[in-house]
Amino acid sequence: SLCTLSFSSSSLRFSVRATSSRAMASHIVGYPRMGPKRELKFALESFWDGKSSADDLQKVAADLRSAIWKQMADAGIKYIPSNTFSYYDQVLDTTAMLGAVPSRYNWNGGEIGFDVYFSMARGNSSVPAMEMTKWFDTNYHYIVPELGPDVKFSYASHKVVDEYKEAKVLGINTVPVLVGPVSYLLLSKPAKGVEKSFSLLSLIDKILPVYREVVAELKAAGATWIQFDEPTLVKDLNAHQLQAFTHAYAELESSLSGLNVLIETYFADVPAEAYKTLTSLKAVTAYGFDIVRGTKTLDLIKQGFPSGKFLFAGVVDGRNIWANNFASSLNTLQALGDIVGNDKVVVSTSCSLLHTAVDLVNETKLDQEIKSWLAFAAQKVVEVNALAKALSGQKDEVFFSANAAALASRKSSPRVINEAVQKAAAALKGSDHRRATNVSARLDAQQKKLNLSVLPTTTIGSFPQTADLRRVRREFKANKISEEDYIRFIKEEIYNVVKLQEELDIDVLVHGEPERNDMVEYFGEQLSGFAFTANGWVQSYGSRCVKPPIIYGDVSRPKPMTVFWSSTAQSLTKRPMKGMLTGPVTILNWSFVRDDQPRFETCYQIALAIKDEVEDLEKAGITVIQIDEAALREGLPLRKSEEAFYLNWAVHSFRITNCGVEDTTQIHTHMCYSNFNDIIHSIIDMDADVITIENSRSDEKLLSVFREGVKYGAGIGPGVYDIHSPRIPPTEEIADRINKMLAVLESSILWVNPDCGLKTRKYTEVKPALTNMVAAAKLIRNQL
Ligand code: GLN
Ligand code: ZN
Repeated sequence: SLCTLSFSSSSLRFSVRATSSRAMASHIVGYPRMGPKRELKFALESFWDGKSSADDLQKVAADLRSAIWKQMADAGIKYIPSNTFSYYDQVLDTTAMLGAVPSRYNWNGGEIGFDVYFSMARGNSSVPAMEMTKWFDTNYHYIVPELGPDVKFSYASHKVVDEYKEAKVLGINTVPVLVGPVSYLLLSKPAKGVEKSFSLLSLIDKILPVYREVVAELKAAGATWIQFDEPTLVKDLNAHQLQAFTHAYAELESSLSGLNVLIETYFADVPAEAYKTLTSLKAVTAYGFDIVRGTKTLDLIKQGFPSGKFLFAGVVDGRNIWANNFASSLNTLQALGDIVGNDKVVVSTSCSLLHTAVDLVNETKLDQEIKSWLAFAAQKVVEVNALAKALSGQKDEVFFSANAAALASRKSSPRVINEAVQKAAAALKGSDHRRATNVSARLDAQQKKLNLSVLPTTTIGSFPQTADLRRVRREFKANKISEEDYIRFIKEEIYNVVKLQEELDIDVLVHGEPERNDMVEYFGEQLSGFAFTANGWVQSYGSRCVKPPIIYGDVSRPKPMTVFWSSTAQSLTKRPMKGMLTGPVTILNWSFVRDDQPRFETCYQIALAIKDEVEDLEKAGITVIQIDEAALREGLPLRKSEEAFYLNWAVHSFRITNCGVEDTTQIHTHMCYSNFNDIIHSIIDMDADVITIENSRSDEKLLSVFREGVKYGAGIGPGVYDIHSPRIPPTEEIADRINKMLAVLESSILWVNPDCGLKTRKYTEVKPALTNMVAAAKLIRNQL
């Protein structure tokens, strides 16, 4: 390019060293599938709605794939992945490849098509979908394979070979990517009816024949490399599980001969034992490591790396949107090159770029300064190649100086630094923050003031968001209606929600959150230190994407965020009106977080901003305040050894928000999951007065904690019905649920509420459901 030409003299000088140590190549672990403007999402949804054909969908998909391959080829990437595209999910693709279709989908053999594939992903009119769960500690969700001793595996989807050939026709010899056989099994679950004790790993010899067939076809098609993603290697694995890797890759060795085999790991460093296992695999030519999150990787490699093998060094962060720090990456890569040889180091991404936004080019509203600090997937591809070239003696000086300048501006920008905030946050460290009085005394004081009946009823916050409501918010944002009109409309909405709740005879009311589009965005938009993108979408599952805010600077709250709406709502009723806030941990976990300070520091800053809001609400006469921590669990680290540290600062952050309120102010929190058994002690340590929690899909699981005798003194509202479904729960069913809870929990601490917010439901569902909920609470009260 022009840039390198104009700096030829300096690159020449640099190349003296590089020639002696030879070139570094470049590689990308995986790439987002949705497209820069969510093209795949719209194509999928249109196909599912019957508005377009399978051909239409396939055309959009093929165009996206070829655009990505070309983009990487143009950037100069040497090892370009294929089969990282998916119509829904890569684990489901593997299930299809292995023909591991659960029998309820009535698959009759043959190549698996859209019908069976999307039925597994989304269910159909007669059968529900397969389960979906979080992909490691990301916000991506995969479809969980359901396996048992009777599954008959067969090679039933040729997608990986088809996509390899498709790229080859375009002149690109790609690295086909497969979910590795051991990770596939470790990520699956025993099918219904299969004993829990069934060893999923015992299926390894049944799936390897399919892998062998795939490998043979890829070889025949001309593949020279293959990538197996084995990210489970970064988790806490036991000897038996590690042994499965040794076994599987030994079994595959002869089939793999003649191919270069890359085993890719990501999201953390590989623990020492696993590292030993991994680096002893004979069939393997190359290892991929996450150098960003895997802070100990460098040490492991120093202690020993098999000679002659390739090291794919993931220095460009796939989990974030920040521009790479070239100077520091060069140092790392040089250090690695010195150990294993420059010609054996391949510059790569820390993980698939699936977990970052797609292309910064489409951000027309972000200002230039912030933009210069960022790199989305498309930019990261260029970064990877620039690093590889620099280490081969072709450093693009202009690009590198621009990178250094952007980093320096980010470091010193007054938009990033707020010294008062930094001081306040620093002062929190090492100290503890708790309310002075213990929870049972507080509950007594609150009850004197609130005078609630036993088994009080409440909801989680949002009420249905009608099309009208969404339109008005949109028009206000686009300056199409005046602030006055907007406020009038929202007030009316609040009035209706308040009156409805009074009619339903609910005890603790909410204002319904009509002014909020999203529980994080609403706060982020009013806090300093946050930026929002126009197209920074990241796939969450299937066609669903989220657009996380970017926390780029010290966080502060210029002015109250919810006080106006909450006090307006309180003025409409004599019943207690819950103030409604999103907690610091949830705001953090659902954002792209700055990487220039520890996460806990950013979390403490958000906690201080929310603390100000809590105290302003209290001053305005709001006596019940709910601080949602829907995503607390999502931040749990992948390894047990790191859990305590995370839970400690996360719970501390929550307590900071409300440690300053009066005993008579009742603090609620809400969580969107029921599997909190393993973190129950941290949840108790949050020291909220009342916790509402999802429960209705798994009564037993939640209640078993209490049955096992965990001491719990605060108020608790395990959801009595599932808001994720349009179904209206009958009164008797809810009463039954309440009775079950009363078998393990004191009536004095039990609350009655739905599982989660009602925002996605219709009023025709919400009214009868809440009517039945209140009726059930009354029924049981009378029996107490
Ligand atoms: N208060 C929020 C609501 O009701 C909570 C949403 C959530 O937990 N995801 O919408
Ligand atoms: Zn929820």
